[in-house]
Amino acid sequence: MEAMVAQNGTRLLTDKFGRVHDYLRISLTDKCNLRCVYCMPAEGMHFMDNDKHLSFDEIEAVVRVAAKLGVRRLRLTGGEPLVRPNVVELIGRLGAIPGIEDIALTTNGIFLAKKAEALKEAGVTRVNISLDSLRQERFAQITRGGDVSKVLESLEASIRVGFHPVKLNVVLMNDFNQDEIDDFLRMSMERAIHVRFIEYMPIGHDDNGWRGRYLPLDSVMKRCEALGLTPEPVGEVFGNGPAEYFRLPGAKGTFGLIHPVSDHFCGNCNRLRLTADGNLKPCLFWQDEFNVRRAIGNEQALENLFFRALDAKPENHEMAKVLFGEELTHEPTVRRMSQIGG
Ligand code: SAM
Ligand code: SF4
Repeated sequence: MEAMVAQNGTRLLTDKFGRVHDYLRISLTDKCNLRCVYCMPAEGMHFMDNDKHLSFDEIEAVVRVAAKLGVRRLRLTGGEPLVRPNVVELIGRLGAIPGIEDIALTTNGIFLAKKAEALKEAGVTRVNISLDSLRQERFAQITRGGDVSKVLESLEASIRVGFHPVKLNVVLMNDFNQDEIDDFLRMSMERAIHVRFIEYMPIGHDDNGWRGRYLPLDSVMKRCEALGLTPEPVGEVFGNGPAEYFRLPGAKGTFGLIHPVSDHFCGNCNRLRLTADGNLKPCLFWQDEFNVRRAIGNEQALENLFFRALDAKPENHEMAKVLFGEELTHEPTVRRMSQIGG
């Protein structure tokens, strides 16, 4: 594959499969104010010391190089990005980097209502809020103690301050919250938001525990059929991600399906990830990582690391093989999702 170059002659982040990378997901911390069952174990989770986090200066230095190589869109994630102190300041700094056109946030929504306005002013354009149950008792069970009313307040605040689009991330799990598919579909009818159903991924889990809870997303379409609803595919793309979107008849919003296990979308992968401790991850599922910390201050060395990460990117993540107990061609990551950022 011939290297693609920008008008100014800079080599762009195109990998050997021809995929152009213009999107960087940045995890600001592995710490979180919740403990979601699919993301972290109940006990034994070790969080990194604050001095292991990339500083704002270091994140900015990495993003400057990424922007030079064609990255245009950023998403801040975690852990919970809003537990990182002074996140509003960081957003202002990242938004001022030439080339950066869009800054998004993925959050559990617990602290979002209070910060929504400041985040919007600082330059966040869009938010994804994670919400796997609308029922307090179950929400507290999934998140190990969260208060669903805070997330719902954040949803309202996000609409009010004008984030666009506002998306909900709903991880569906077998025998856990699949009986709420109807309620989330109803939300997509009544509100101008995008409800994204996400397949539970085998990241950082013992495979057996995961397999029992994994639910393929054709269950959402089957539910629509059972309700006599015909979802129309929506041609428009609402962001940088892999979701396929549908609209129910007369709905104000849409619903999306993100099915990395039952039907991967790696052919369109456009993203790299930066962990809070400074590792570039070419693939969500694989172990390969490239530490940027020592290269910061040396632009050429940082550029080289981006291209090394790109070279290590697999054609697809092979998560489906975990379902069938098949051998993987690469080592899967040992990180939990909270240590990657989703
Ligand atoms: N704390 C923030 C939040 O929950 O939105 C951002 C980080 S969280 C790791 C990012 C996304 O990953 C969330 O939408 C969460 O639901 C999702 N996630 C975590 N573990 C997952 C898993 N095993 N499978 C699928 N999605 C997962
Ligand atoms: Fe925290 Fe997000 Fe993981 Fe839940 S999914 S434990 S909110 S990082």
